[in-house]
Amino acid sequence: MKKFYLLAGLSLLASPLLAQRTLIHCGNLFTGTSNDLQHQMTVVVEGNKITAVQKGYAAADGQDRIVDLKNKTVLPGLIDMHVHMESETRRGGQVDQFTQNVPDVAFKAAKHARTTLLAGFTTVRDLGGSGVNVSLRNAVNQGLVDGPRILTVGKSIATTGGHADPTNGYRRDLMGDPGPAEGVINSPEDARKAVRQRYKEGADLIKITATGGVLSNAKDGSGPQFTEEEVKAVVDAAKDYGFPVAAHAHGAEGMKRAIRAGVQTIEHGTYMDDEAIALFKKHGTYFVPTIIAGKTVADSARMFGYYPALVRPKALAIGPKIQATFGKAYKAGVNIAFGTDAGVYLHGYNAKEFEYMVEAGMPPVEALKSALMTNARLLGMDTQIGSIEAGKLADIIAVDDCPIQNIKTLQTVRFVMKDGKVYKQ
Ligand SMILES: [Zn+2]
Repeated sequence: MKKFYLLAGLSLLASPLLAQRTLIHCGNLFTGTSNDLQHQMTVVVEGNKITAVQKGYAAADGQDRIVDLKNKTVLPGLIDMHVHMESETRRGGQVDQFTQNVPDVAFKAAKHARTTLLAGFTTVRDLGGSGVNVSLRNAVNQGLVDGPRILTVGKSIATTGGHADPTNGYRRDLMGDPGPAEGVINSPEDARKAVRQRYKEGADLIKITATGGVLSNAKDGSGPQFTEEEVKAVVDAAKDYGFPVAAHAHGAEGMKRAIRAGVQTIEHGTYMDDEAIALFKKHGTYFVPTIIAGKTVADSARMFGYYPALVRPKALAIGPKIQATFGKAYKAGVNIAFGTDAGVYLHGYNAKEFEYMVEAGMPPVEALKSALMTNARLLGMDTQIGSIEAGKLADIIAVDDCPIQNIKTLQTVRFVMKDGKVYKQ
C-alpha cells in the first residue's frame, strides 16, 4: 500500500514539470552576452532550464504559463562573490558568539538567504562562517530553505591571532589554541591539513585571511599574517580538490604574497599600491572590492559603542578608502569581480555596490557584467549561470528601468526566478 502512494505522489509531482513551459515576455532584455538591450523578447523556461530566447512575444500553447514583464528590464540573476550568510552587523554583536546556539545561527542564516534571493542575487559565494553555511547550502539545494545557490568556504583559514582566528579577543582561559581543524594554521603542514579539513566538511572553495581585518577583536587591520610559503601550501593543497582560493587582504604586503602564491581573488584590497596592481595584472588575479562594506563599517564606527574599542579606529581608517582604491585599480586595468561582504552591512542591500562602482568610474554595463559572466567564470559555472541563453539554468530577474541608464534600479528587484521557480513577482 505504502509503495503505491509513494509512486502515485511522485508521478503527480513530475508530470506538470515536464509539460508546462513558462514564457517570459520581456519588454527589455539584457542577456549578459553583449552590451546591448533587446526589445520585445520571449525567454522560454522548461523545468529549471532556459530552452529558448526568441524575438517577439510568443503566444501561449496549451498549458504554457505567461509571465508578463513587458514594462520591465529582464536580466540574468546576479552573483555576489563575497557574503557571510551566518551573520549580520548590529550594535554590540560581538557577544553573539557566546550567547547563540548553532540553531540560532541557522535560523538567522536562513532568513539572510531568503533576503538575498529576493534582492535578485541567485548565486553567492559565502566567504566564511562557522560551518552552518555548509548546512545552509545543502538545505537550499534540497528545497528546505529559500535562498540563492551557495558556494561556501565553510570556515575561513587564519593564523594564530589573525583575522578569523575564532578565539581572538577572548579571555586567556577561553582562548585555547585552535589549530587546523578550527581553521588556524602556522606552517605549510598545518595549511594542508586545514584545507583537507575544509574538504572533509563539505566546502566548495577556500578562503584565507592574508592580512589583519577590520572587525576581528585584534589591534592589527592590515599587516601580513601568512608567510608566502603558507599561502602557497594552501593554494597547492586546494588545487588537489579543484578549490580556488580567495584571500582577504587590506595591506599591500599580504596582498602581494597571496597574489604571487596563486590565489584567485583578493577581497577588499584597501592599501593596494602600484607594485600590487602590477602583480594583479601579471597573474590575472581578480579584485573583489566590497566598497559598501567599507562605507558601512566607517559609518557604524562613528556611532559610539557600535564596535569594540580595538575595532573602531580600524573601521574609521580602512573603511572609507576602498572606493578610491577600486577606482584606481579599475582604471589601471585590474580584473574586477563583483562582491560586497554582505553581513558586514545589512543583507539585501548588495546592489548598492553597483552604484558605488559607477561613482568610482566604472561604466554601468561593466559593473553589471562583473556580477554576471565574470563571476560565473570564476565560480567555474559559466556554462550554467551568468547569462540568459538556451541551455542555462533559469536564473532570471527583472527591474523597472534600464540598469545601463539608471544603475540604481538594480536596488529594487521586482521579479526573481531561480532554477525555474518564481520567488518574487
Ligand atoms: Zn568578508
